[in-house]
Amino acid sequence: MLTISAGHFGKGTGANGFIDEGSEVMEVVTAIQARFQKSQIAAQCIIDRQSKNQAQNLRYLIAAHNQTKRVLDVSIHFNAVSGIREVGIGTEVLYVNPNLKSFAATMSAAIAKAGGFKDRGAKYRSNLAWLNGTVKPAILIEICFVNSRTDVQAYEKNKTQIVEAIFMALESYCKKSKNNLKKL
Ligand SMILES: [Zn+2]
Repeated sequence: MLTISAGHFGKGTGANGFIDEGSEVMEVVTAIQARFQKSQIAAQCIIDRQSKNQAQNLRYLIAAHNQTKRVLDVSIHFNAVSGIREVGIGTEVLYVNPNLKSFAATMSAAIAKAGGFKDRGAKYRSNLAWLNGTVKPAILIEICFVNSRTDVQAYEKNKTQIVEAIFMALESYCKKSKNNLKKL
Protein backbone atom coordinates (compact mmCIF):
# COMPACT_ATOMS: atom_id res chain seq x y z
CA MET A 1 0.00 0.00 0.00
CA LEU A 2 1.36 3.41 -0.92
CA THR A 3 0.19 7.00 -1.08
CA ILE A 4 0.88 9.24 -4.04
CA SER A 5 0.11 12.91 -4.47
CA ALA A 6 0.25 15.62 -7.10
CA GLY A 7 2.82 18.11 -5.86
CA HIS A 8 0.77 21.30 -6.39
CA PHE A 9 -2.86 22.40 -6.37
CA GLY A 10 -3.93 23.02 -9.96
CA LYS A 11 -3.11 25.00 -13.08
CA GLY A 12 -0.63 27.82 -12.53
CA THR A 13 0.41 26.67 -9.04
CA GLY A 14 3.73 25.08 -10.03
CA ALA A 15 6.39 25.70 -12.64
CA ASN A 16 5.36 26.86 -16.09
CA GLY A 17 7.08 26.28 -19.44
CA PHE A 18 6.03 24.22 -22.44
CA ILE A 19 3.65 22.48 -20.04
CA ASP A 20 1.99 23.62 -16.82
CA GLU A 21 3.34 21.65 -13.86
CA GLY A 22 0.29 22.22 -11.64
CA SER A 23 -2.17 20.63 -14.05
CA GLU A 24 0.23 18.05 -15.50
CA VAL A 25 1.02 16.45 -12.10
CA MET A 26 -2.71 15.90 -11.53
CA GLU A 27 -2.95 14.05 -14.85
CA VAL A 28 0.08 11.90 -14.09
CA VAL A 29 -1.13 10.97 -10.60
CA THR A 30 -4.59 10.11 -11.96
CA ALA A 31 -3.01 7.88 -14.63
CA ILE A 32 -0.80 6.11 -12.08
CA GLN A 33 -3.81 5.56 -9.82
CA ALA A 34 -5.76 4.04 -12.72
CA ARG A 35 -2.84 1.70 -13.37
CA PHE A 36 -2.81 0.60 -9.71
CA GLN A 37 -6.51 -0.22 -9.90
CA LYS A 38 -5.54 -3.18 -12.10
CA SER A 39 -2.83 -4.29 -9.66
CA GLN A 40 -2.67 -6.25 -6.37
CA ILE A 41 -1.20 -3.24 -4.60
CA ALA A 42 -3.48 -0.52 -3.25
CA ALA A 43 -2.51 3.06 -4.05
CA GLN A 44 -4.17 6.04 -2.42
CA CYS A 45 -4.15 9.13 -4.54
CA ILE A 46 -4.15 12.68 -3.15
CA ILE A 47 -5.05 15.67 -5.28
CA ASP A 48 -5.40 19.01 -3.51
CA ARG A 49 -8.34 20.94 -4.99
CA GLN A 50 -8.90 23.25 -2.02
CA SER A 51 -5.71 25.13 -1.07
CA LYS A 52 -5.33 28.79 -1.95
CA ASN A 53 -1.57 29.15 -1.55
CA GLN A 54 1.61 27.09 -1.37
CA ALA A 55 1.81 27.01 2.44
CA GLN A 56 -1.75 25.66 2.68
CA ASN A 57 -0.98 23.17 -0.08
CA LEU A 58 2.07 21.79 1.73
CA ARG A 59 0.17 21.50 5.01
CA TYR A 60 -2.70 19.79 3.20
CA LEU A 61 -0.47 17.27 1.40
CA ILE A 62 1.63 16.41 4.45
CA ALA A 63 -1.46 15.92 6.66
CA ALA A 64 -3.25 13.87 3.96
CA HIS A 65 -0.23 11.58 3.48
CA ASN A 66 0.26 11.10 7.21
CA GLN A 67 -3.40 10.13 7.67
CA THR A 68 -3.04 7.14 5.35
CA LYS A 69 -1.72 3.66 6.01
CA ARG A 70 1.19 2.96 3.65
CA VAL A 71 4.78 1.78 3.23
CA LEU A 72 5.82 4.61 0.92
CA ASP A 73 4.94 8.23 0.18
CA VAL A 74 5.39 9.54 -3.35
CA SER A 75 5.04 13.07 -4.70
CA ILE A 76 4.95 13.88 -8.41
CA HIS A 77 6.55 17.08 -9.74
CA PHE A 78 8.18 18.54 -12.81
CA ASN A 79 11.38 20.55 -12.55
CA ALA A 80 12.29 23.98 -13.91
CA VAL A 81 15.28 26.17 -14.64
CA SER A 82 15.09 29.84 -15.55
CA GLY A 83 14.31 30.70 -19.17
CA ILE A 84 13.77 28.36 -22.08
CA ARG A 85 16.28 25.61 -22.92
CA GLU A 86 16.44 23.66 -26.15
CA VAL A 87 18.58 20.83 -24.76
CA GLY A 88 17.33 17.96 -22.65
CA ILE A 89 17.99 18.32 -18.90
CA GLY A 90 16.45 15.20 -17.45
CA THR A 91 14.88 13.28 -14.59
CA GLU A 92 15.77 13.32 -10.92
CA VAL A 93 14.29 11.76 -7.80
CA LEU A 94 14.70 13.47 -4.44
CA TYR A 95 14.92 11.87 -1.00
CA VAL A 96 15.91 12.86 2.52
CA ASN A 97 15.91 9.48 4.30
CA PRO A 98 19.23 7.80 3.33
CA ASN A 99 17.45 4.42 3.16
CA LEU A 100 15.63 5.70 0.09
CA LYS A 101 18.76 6.62 -1.88
CA SER A 102 18.95 3.39 -3.84
CA PHE A 103 15.22 3.26 -4.62
CA ALA A 104 15.33 6.91 -5.73
CA ALA A 105 18.17 6.01 -8.11
CA THR A 106 16.21 3.01 -9.43
CA MET A 107 13.13 5.18 -10.00
CA SER A 108 15.09 7.93 -11.73
CA ALA A 109 16.78 5.43 -14.08
CA ALA A 110 13.44 3.78 -14.89
CA ILE A 111 11.75 7.08 -15.79
CA ALA A 112 14.78 8.29 -17.76
CA LYS A 113 14.79 5.07 -19.78
CA ALA A 114 11.04 5.11 -20.44
CA GLY A 115 10.96 8.78 -21.35
CA GLY A 116 14.25 9.04 -23.21
CA PHE A 117 15.52 11.60 -20.65
CA LYS A 118 18.98 12.17 -19.24
CA ASP A 119 19.20 10.38 -15.88
CA ARG A 120 20.22 12.91 -13.22
CA GLY A 121 19.69 10.26 -10.56
CA ALA A 122 18.93 10.33 -6.83
CA LYS A 123 19.38 13.68 -5.08
CA TYR A 124 19.55 14.21 -1.32
CA ARG A 125 17.45 17.25 -0.30
CA SER A 126 17.09 18.19 3.36
CA ASN A 127 15.16 21.45 2.82
CA LEU A 128 11.87 20.28 1.34
CA ALA A 129 8.78 20.57 3.56
CA TRP A 130 7.03 17.59 2.02
CA LEU A 131 10.01 15.23 2.39
CA ASN A 132 10.59 16.43 5.95
CA GLY A 133 6.92 16.40 6.99
CA THR A 134 5.84 12.98 5.77
CA VAL A 135 6.71 10.29 8.31
CA LYS A 136 7.06 7.21 6.08
CA PRO A 137 9.83 6.51 3.55
CA ALA A 138 9.32 9.07 0.80
CA ILE A 139 10.52 10.02 -2.66
CA LEU A 140 9.76 13.14 -4.67
CA ILE A 141 9.84 12.52 -8.43
CA GLU A 142 10.86 15.32 -10.82
CA ILE A 143 9.84 13.74 -14.13
CA CYS A 144 11.60 16.24 -16.40
CA PHE A 145 12.02 20.00 -16.92
CA VAL A 146 8.96 21.99 -18.06
CA ASN A 147 11.09 24.58 -19.83
CA SER A 148 13.37 22.21 -21.74
CA ARG A 149 11.92 21.79 -25.22
CA THR A 150 13.68 18.43 -25.67
CA ASP A 151 12.41 17.11 -22.30
CA VAL A 152 8.81 18.16 -22.94
CA GLN A 153 8.76 16.72 -26.46
CA ALA A 154 10.05 13.40 -25.09
CA TYR A 155 7.53 13.55 -22.24
CA GLU A 156 4.56 14.18 -24.57
CA LYS A 157 5.65 11.34 -26.83
CA ASN A 158 6.34 8.80 -24.06
CA LYS A 159 3.73 9.69 -21.42
CA THR A 160 2.19 6.20 -21.30
CA GLN A 161 5.58 4.51 -20.97
CA ILE A 162 6.62 6.95 -18.23
CA VAL A 163 3.46 6.25 -16.21
CA GLU A 164 4.03 2.52 -16.68
CA ALA A 165 7.67 2.80 -15.54
CA ILE A 166 6.68 4.71 -12.39
CA PHE A 167 3.93 2.17 -11.68
CA MET A 168 6.28 -0.82 -12.16
CA ALA A 169 8.97 0.60 -9.87
CA LEU A 170 6.41 1.46 -7.16
CA GLU A 171 4.70 -1.91 -7.41
CA SER A 172 8.00 -3.69 -7.06
CA TYR A 173 8.95 -1.57 -4.02
CA CYS A 174 5.62 -2.41 -2.32
CA LYS A 175 5.90 -6.12 -3.09
CA LYS A 176 9.36 -6.21 -1.51
CA SER A 177 8.14 -4.26 1.54
CA LYS A 178 5.29 -6.72 2.02
CA ASN A 179 7.82 -9.49 2.60
CA ASN A 180 9.86 -7.36 4.98
CA LEU A 181 7.22 -5.78 7.12
CA LYS A 182 9.35 -5.95 10.25
CA LYS A 183 11.88 -3.57 8.76
CA LEU A 184 9.31 -0.82 8.26
ZN1 LIG B 1 6.81 21.11 -8.23
